[in-house]
Amino acid sequence: MDPRVLEAMLPFYTGHFGNASSMTHRFGWTAADAVERAREQVASLIGASPREIVFTSGATESTNLAIKGVAESDPDKGNHIVICATEHRATLDCCAALGKRGFEVTCVAVDEYGIIDIGDLESAIGDRTILIGVMAANNEIGSIHSLEEIGALAQKHGIPWHCDAAQAVGKFPVHVTDWGVSLLSISAHKLYGPKGQGALFVRRRPTRTRLTPQQDGGGQEGGLRSGTPNVPGIVGLGKACELCEAEMEVETPRIRSLRDRLQLRIESAVSDVVLNGHPQRRLAGCLSLSFPGADGAELIRALGEIAVSAGSACTSGSNAPSHVLKAIGRTDDMAFSSLRFGLGRFNTESEIDVAADRVIEQVSRARK
Ligand SMILES: *Cc1c(COP(=O)(O)O)cnc(C)c1O
Repeated sequence: MDPRVLEAMLPFYTGHFGNASSMTHRFGWTAADAVERAREQVASLIGASPREIVFTSGATESTNLAIKGVAESDPDKGNHIVICATEHRATLDCCAALGKRGFEVTCVAVDEYGIIDIGDLESAIGDRTILIGVMAANNEIGSIHSLEEIGALAQKHGIPWHCDAAQAVGKFPVHVTDWGVSLLSISAHKLYGPKGQGALFVRRRPTRTRLTPQQDGGGQEGGLRSGTPNVPGIVGLGKACELCEAEMEVETPRIRSLRDRLQLRIESAVSDVVLNGHPQRRLAGCLSLSFPGADGAELIRALGEIAVSAGSACTSGSNAPSHVLKAIGRTDDMAFSSLRFGLGRFNTESEIDVAADRVIEQVSRARK
């Protein structure tokens, strides 16, 4: 978390510990004002109106609210959902849960770079399609879809599009109107904000996206997300968005050049390195590489304090190869030989050089 974000949050744990839903006293108003300011900060970063922002506990909750909320909003309209093969588990598992309740889900394949073809997406749409779920940028390989084309397609067919933008918001310009998106999920901890905080953009104009709430209670957040709002978390998300809006233009090229430095140094010293994801249309801070002949899990142990991820679904505790790497055509062996580097705001050039040296050394050791 950015220390400036923590600093903005701290007063709301102590001195300003009002409940933003309590409108009968000054403490509540102070908290409510802070929440509304954060709503403006989030909206501003994505080109939305503050009334279109619903605060949640993270992108997982936002995605559940978006997908299940649309699915339940109009049972007569249809029962078919179209998603992309490389979606985050939040989307995949929401759709699996809906599948058990009679919904049909079409999972559209991606090309070797992890990008969905618009023709394939359009072919998957039918009369009973109620939702398109395609993320902005992939969290494992960084590939960025053709977002304005997806939005144009969704609008042409009059189908809401939910975009999981957890990796995009704060990293490159996101504009909900230019994209033509109906629902967009945001996660605070992906943009130097606190964990356990997120937001969902819910389009209101020209047409309001209808959602069935997934949590019932006091009717907070326009009835879409009941429960006392997490005021410090919301303030933190707002501050994080404000900082990204102000600094993204300088920060993203800096991170991209560090990432390119890491990639080049590794590629020039190690043979047979395979890049996963699109070489250009990719998140600046993302680098996924396969090192055929080396075992990813072993490399991670050998890399010690350098924090990298493997090409397996370690989140679920299982040791299955990553569904994203499989979707771009990698074999199981190739997936198990992969490492994923995530670079960010606080990385320095000297850290990159240390990481590159260590990777080069450990890959050649592992291959021997
Ligand atoms: C991190 C992430 C999520 C989950 O976000 P949480 O806020 O941790 O629930 C969803 N989708 C993508 C693409 C992510 O990177």
